[in-house]
Amino acid sequence: MFYYRFASFWECFFSALGAEIIVSDRTNKRILDDGVKNCVDEACLPIKLFYGHVLNLRDKVDYILVPRFTSISGNEYICPEFGGLPDMIRHTLKGLPGLIDTEINMRKSARGGLKAAIEMGEMLGADKRRTVKAYQLASGNFRKDHFYKEFRKTVLQGEDRFPAGSEKGGHCPREIGGYSEATSRKAENCPHPASQKGEKCPRPESQKGEKCPHPASRKGEKCPRGKRLCVGVIGHPYNVYDRYISMDLLRKLTDHGVDVRTIEAVEEVDINRQASTLPKPMFWNHGRMAYGAALHMAERGEVEGFICLSSFGCGIDSFVNDLIERHIRRRYGIPFITMTIDEHSGEAGFNTRLEAFVDMLKWRRQNEDYISASG
Ligand code: SF4
Repeated sequence: MFYYRFASFWECFFSALGAEIIVSDRTNKRILDDGVKNCVDEACLPIKLFYGHVLNLRDKVDYILVPRFTSISGNEYICPEFGGLPDMIRHTLKGLPGLIDTEINMRKSARGGLKAAIEMGEMLGADKRRTVKAYQLASGNFRKDHFYKEFRKTVLQGEDRFPAGSEKGGHCPREIGGYSEATSRKAENCPHPASQKGEKCPRPESQKGEKCPHPASRKGEKCPRGKRLCVGVIGHPYNVYDRYISMDLLRKLTDHGVDVRTIEAVEEVDINRQASTLPKPMFWNHGRMAYGAALHMAERGEVEGFICLSSFGCGIDSFVNDLIERHIRRRYGIPFITMTIDEHSGEAGFNTRLEAFVDMLKWRRQNEDYISASG
């Protein structure tokens, strides 16, 4: 489920333990159908899809990684469906290879990660010393130079997330993140005032150097927006970055000439600053990330609309999205749409809603001079 967040960590960790890694195929109709057929009806779409991916790997591997995620951050939890996933899989699917179903619980301490790694190493027959080394290597790599940072950079800079040839082949997050060496070098020459002060430039690469249409720049003030329309897409990474399940939302937006910001484009420190304004700390890791990122984008004026991509039946989304929408509308008056997906969602209806939303944002920009129609 957390492939789009931790793929590089797992890749490095298991490779260092001498394991060969096989990733399930890119999500497709067969994987979805298999998942829906074998999973309980009440589960949300990503869980059904996870079943499909497990079935896709069943006959190809000796072990499948199905960790029991309880918490990946201090005093926060992951959705309980993650916790029950190994049991659900084990008791409903037949003929499975071994499951690496170690619990990962970092609610009290980050050492929970090491504990889980040692258990995984034992399952694969590696001694403790080797496992600890592999864990340190993977953690160092993850912090320093892993795809997630590059991925965030590319999202931030409005790079093409779908380079030529990405239709074919595996299910690689670098490909979806539009990872490239050139991308990281581009940031060095950014003319934006923020970068000259040593801060990270908030504007997409594609907009730098272009004449800005925002009224603020005409008055000589610093413009918070670029020439191209920019939309914030809020949702779980396994929905947003999976091209099949999201109905290729990110690419469709790009094709409409719209830049995209996702939660991953916002720094953790900014997310935490916004989340700390809530009267109570968020119970859910995703809730804090989504709320903090959306409010940060809105406060900075980086986006002109929000699309909330939500799975039908997701308990967390049902209240987190509502909370975000209320705060965004009340404080910033930015248009907000929730697109709910499930296994019955039709692409035509999805596209129509998306086009109508983008058209409305374009019309608003041209005709309303950024002032809300409702006043
Ligand atoms: S957070 Fe929502 S979408 Fe994700 S697994 Fe839980 S119920 Fe499903």
